[in-house]
Amino acid sequence: MTMDHATTTTPVSDPAGTPTSTAATAGGRALAAALTQFDAAADHLGLEPGLRSVLRQPQREHTLRFPVKRDDGTTDVVTGYRVQHNVARGPAKGGLRFHPHTDLDDVRALAMWMTWKCALVDVPFGGAKGGVTCDPHEMSLKELEALTRRFATELEGIIGPDSDIPAPDVGTNAQVMAWIMDTVSMHRGYSVPGVVTGKPIAIGGSVGRSDATGQGVVYTIEATAARLGLELQGATVAVQGFGNVGEATARLLHEAGAKVVAITDVVGGVHDPDGLDVPRLARRFREHGTVAGAPDTHAIDNETLFALDVDVLVLAALEGQITAANAGNVRARILAEGANGPTDPGADPILRANGVTVIPDILCNAGGVIVSYFEWAQNRSALAWTLDEINGRLRRQILAATDAVWDRAGADGVTPRLAAHAIAIERVADATRLRGLYP
Ligand code: GLU
Repeated sequence: MTMDHATTTTPVSDPAGTPTSTAATAGGRALAAALTQFDAAADHLGLEPGLRSVLRQPQREHTLRFPVKRDDGTTDVVTGYRVQHNVARGPAKGGLRFHPHTDLDDVRALAMWMTWKCALVDVPFGGAKGGVTCDPHEMSLKELEALTRRFATELEGIIGPDSDIPAPDVGTNAQVMAWIMDTVSMHRGYSVPGVVTGKPIAIGGSVGRSDATGQGVVYTIEATAARLGLELQGATVAVQGFGNVGEATARLLHEAGAKVVAITDVVGGVHDPDGLDVPRLARRFREHGTVAGAPDTHAIDNETLFALDVDVLVLAALEGQITAANAGNVRARILAEGANGPTDPGADPILRANGVTVIPDILCNAGGVIVSYFEWAQNRSALAWTLDEINGRLRRQILAATDAVWDRAGADGVTPRLAAHAIAIERVADATRLRGLYP
């Protein structure tokens, strides 16, 4: 499924309230989804109009255009973004995405989701997101490093350990974080490890960070399955996406005794009703850049994967995958949102009516930012925690949020998504009221 397949041209109000973008772009649809979710939660909470308009829009938006030299000697001008949605609860926090569909609306949506995610799992951060419109798979390592270092330079004055802390996201990784950390450190004249999280361990990264999002997805699935009386041992699982989140989730579920029967990646997919050999597929992915064509498997596409009769469907790719058009095909008991915004608001009532339990993204994939917080705290204290400490704390923190979401959903008679947003927005609203208006 491509992300720029236009399903509607409904005008979308931009965060300032003016209809400037249309839902014809993937970013426009993501922003429309984020705003619809916010409005539903704000209505549910009866949020006062002033606070509502404060929280509905990003506090700061940066669009940066800069030249990058290609290996063939030509120069490209690329566009980068950093949006800080809200900093009431602490420094802005969120990933950097390098992807051809990255645009301002997409980054606005993703930044808003970060604010709610950090509040929901109670890490002392606000929300931000950034990215560059580019295709890292089309670039050499040298070009990628040059683009990253120039982007880091453009971000000087915006990012910093006390103001705004980037991390990996789609199309970026620990190496990209290392280049950003080094660029900022060279400019300052001393090492600034706390300026980014998701760094390599050798330069101040945390053990457990690379698996953290997938590990958190697995903890939330375990807790949800237990509530539904579903045994994870032997449960069937389908996973869309085999990047950082999808690979770790599939591997950890496989290790926990679940039967992963289908995986798709950006190129293709594999299916085996008897269960896939996930470690072998991970090796194949590293060598070939795709799981497609692995021996003893059948090919499968995303739409067929979404419709499989499995216990757990994990969405670990991009936004807007399950919509009103295909939600009725989902037969899984649990839909775990490892990606940000994979389910369109139009799909939610259909999933609910069909008895599909959704673990909402801002809860399900929060393991990444939770361990980012641990990494930042270690950098600030110059201490190194053990993997047991990291995973123990991650488990406690994400399960506390999971319990809070299920309890609130039950008490208010609402979906887990609405409950998660209500808890998060309430916390950000409380912080905003306590801080008051300046001057
Ligand atoms: N990009 C990840 C997310 O969407 C991690 C963000 C972070 O660690 O700051 O949650």
